[in-house]
Amino acid sequence: MAIRIDGKVISGIIKDEVKAEVSALKEKGIDVTLAVIQVGEDPASTVYVGNKKKACAYTGIVSRAYNLPEDVSEEELLSLIRKLNDDSDVNGILVQLPLPKHISESRVIETISPKKDVDGFHIQSAGALLTGEKGFLPCTPAGIIELIKRTGVDITGKECVVIGRSNIVGKPMAVLLLRENGTVTICHSKTKDLRSVTKRADILVAAIGKPKFIDASYVKEGAVVIDVGIHRNENNKLCGDVDFESVEPVAYAITPVPGGVGPMTIAMLMKNCLEARKQQG
Ligand code: NAD
Repeated sequence: MAIRIDGKVISGIIKDEVKAEVSALKEKGIDVTLAVIQVGEDPASTVYVGNKKKACAYTGIVSRAYNLPEDVSEEELLSLIRKLNDDSDVNGILVQLPLPKHISESRVIETISPKKDVDGFHIQSAGALLTGEKGFLPCTPAGIIELIKRTGVDITGKECVVIGRSNIVGKPMAVLLLRENGTVTICHSKTKDLRSVTKRADILVAAIGKPKFIDASYVKEGAVVIDVGIHRNENNKLCGDVDFESVEPVAYAITPVPGGVGPMTIAMLMKNCLEARKQQG
């Protein structure tokens, strides 16, 4: 049986590390503050935002909630972001995605000051990641690196295959694995003979957005398998991009859904907020 990589436990350790530092800052009279903006009332977004607020409460980070109506204009949203950029009491700004169609996500992301870009989505953060400069790392891929390392797996020299090339998961994931000295291949919807590539992977990251797509036939014996996908199955239960029952017997280690990558994303967000506060002096 494969090692079940426990994202709940590992994220708990990271949140406790953040909590200790936040509390030490509080003793000096310094607060860490995250502004969380939600547009509309999409139920999934409400759950994600709620989980982020809970993590803030746990770690001692102050969360300021801004709930804007679905039909808010792009200009109103951008002007709120500019106001928060200029507010020295706010250390991090998060805009919950996706946004309604009439608002340009890229314009919104580019308006957030790179100094407060705790999601790590700003083009400056992406550039810093690519060139190895200091900058905020996108939370999901950064959390995955922590999961792999804290499982005791050395990435150096390993064949790493990432399925998915989105800006928030696939691409930064590949760059981070490269930074850890992995030999990295990115697969996507136009990849020919996906199985022949994924079968080479010592470390396989599935960020496809298709429920239970990866079964044992895609996985090399002894691989570390990281499942980024989040879906609801026909019984309304959470599942990932990986068919857990099929893959677990062949893998060395595997993340479950729920309780794998998901909690890490939030823990890394807390870490980025703390880092933002420290950098802002
Ligand atoms: P996306 O839809 O932007 O990207 C999916 C990628 O998969 C694309 O690059 C596409 O080329 C590739 N793909 C699609 N079909 C394929 C196929 N048949 N073969 C090979 N590649 C294929 O999705 P995303 O934003 O990167 O998210 C991926 C999944 O991760 C989703 O299920 C999302 O809900 C989940 N997610 C989870 C977290 C978390 O915290 N756990 C965070 C972000 C995203």
